[in-house]
Amino acid sequence: MLPSPHHDVAAFALGVLDEEDHEAFHRHLMTCEECQVELRELGEVPGLLDAVKRDRSNALDDDRTPH
Ligand SMILES: [Zn+2]
Repeated sequence: MLPSPHHDVAAFALGVLDEEDHEAFHRHLMTCEECQVELRELGEVPGLLDAVKRDRSNALDDDRTPH
């Protein structure tokens, strides 16, 4: 059960939502000033975003590495 319609804002900011969830949250975001504010605040946490990008590039490197 979802705690609130606002629960996906962090996942949305990190780009980790499924396409369907991403679109659903994006529609919510258009109507929800609270989430727009929260998203802006999350966008000011570059360390968090960098950590995710690093994880992704590591995953890509693993794919390219022959075993
Ligand atoms: Zn919201």
